[in-house]
Amino acid sequence: MLARNEKTSSQFTARGLIAALLPLAVGAALAAKPLPVQADDGMTQEARYLEKLYLYFHQNPELSFRETESAKRVAKELKAVGYEVSTGVGGNGVVAVLKNGSGPTLLLRADMDALPVVENTGLPYASKVTSKNDAGQTVGVMHACGHDIHMTALVGAARELKARQKEWQGTLVLVGQPAEEVSGGARAMLKAGLYDKFPKPDYAVALHTSASHPAGSVAYSIGPALASVDNVDITIRGVGGHGAYPHKTKDPIVLAAQVVLALQTIVSREIDPREPAVITVGSIHGGAKANIISEEVKMALTVRSYSPTVRELMLKSIERIVTGTALAAGMPADAMPDVRVRDEYTPSTWNEPKLTEHLVAVFGKALGADHVLATEPVMAGEDFSMYGQTADKIPSTIFWVGGVDPMVYEKSLRGEVTLPALHSPEFAPVPAPTLRTGVKALVAAALDLLPVK
Ligand code: ZN
Ligand code: ZN
Repeated sequence: MLARNEKTSSQFTARGLIAALLPLAVGAALAAKPLPVQADDGMTQEARYLEKLYLYFHQNPELSFRETESAKRVAKELKAVGYEVSTGVGGNGVVAVLKNGSGPTLLLRADMDALPVVENTGLPYASKVTSKNDAGQTVGVMHACGHDIHMTALVGAARELKARQKEWQGTLVLVGQPAEEVSGGARAMLKAGLYDKFPKPDYAVALHTSASHPAGSVAYSIGPALASVDNVDITIRGVGGHGAYPHKTKDPIVLAAQVVLALQTIVSREIDPREPAVITVGSIHGGAKANIISEEVKMALTVRSYSPTVRELMLKSIERIVTGTALAAGMPADAMPDVRVRDEYTPSTWNEPKLTEHLVAVFGKALGADHVLATEPVMAGEDFSMYGQTADKIPSTIFWVGGVDPMVYEKSLRGEVTLPALHSPEFAPVPAPTLRTGVKALVAAALDLLPVK
């Protein structure tokens, strides 16, 4: 099937992986030529330390809202280097503060949760963890979105910034955030007083591992970066009966089929074609037997856009189309469909242009301009968006840190391999260069945004 980065990655042994973090040994151990990286003199011990930490996070993934051990470890690491650490902020949230004279406050955020995915990378350090989900089923758990990279990079940056305390001035607020994948962690932390009980940031910055950019690089988009996300649950009611007597029923499966098709016209016919928008019916369930017309059909939708106006329009149109279809079928007024927009709405992520452009220049200096890549916004969602959604609109930006083995990346450009996406059981960032670049970028951002007066 796919000749992915796992192929080269699976050649890793734990010791090989350690060697991969030594800049001089990178080429040999990865069996892939990394992008040229600048010398990390004196970082060898530190790189080993971070690698071990990464392996811990990778092998101990926890589902959303259950990140107790990850949170404990993040807290312990930050406390050990001298940060003032608070735990249990909005559930499993961790907040670490380092006050270093007068100056601006910078928030750096790492999310901590993993996904119900059975890891299939073939890596020697692959996760074997299983857990019970909310429905009580046993599921495999994997850091398939790279949040293990995020936690490790945050700790790496925290350690380096503490060691280089003389080179900056101001306050660092480091956030270990739970429950990004189900979108609720950022909201819970803000509700628990992140901006009241702790220094309120002047800037908020985060990174996210990229499954489509080479390790050694970072990627950015200015303005819209990720979409808003709404989940909509629909119950379409019918009048059940025998499959042989459809004229005595109202068939909710036929109604649901009409609704699914009619929903496609919202994006294609109602929204300005220049505006990105997605409506996906991701789940549809109804009926139990071939000769029974059921009483109801349930559907679950994901609804995404960049613009709040488009979002409003889509939600209104969904309601109108669903209700209209039921009316057209002659359903009585007391059996109209139920349309529920779940309240865990994630706003779209907006990379504040001034801050983002500024950091692009900073990253260029730290990593080399050819390792800082412009990229398109995506329709995935991120609750990092919430950190900037205050009345005074705190400038915030999230950038991608490339996680793909550069040699595999080159192959993908030639169409020889398909890169596994985020959330795939095969997603396997190359830890050493990904972490090195992530730490470097976070440190560069902090040193620049918190200058010595
Ligand atoms: Zn994810
Ligand atoms: Zn993620």
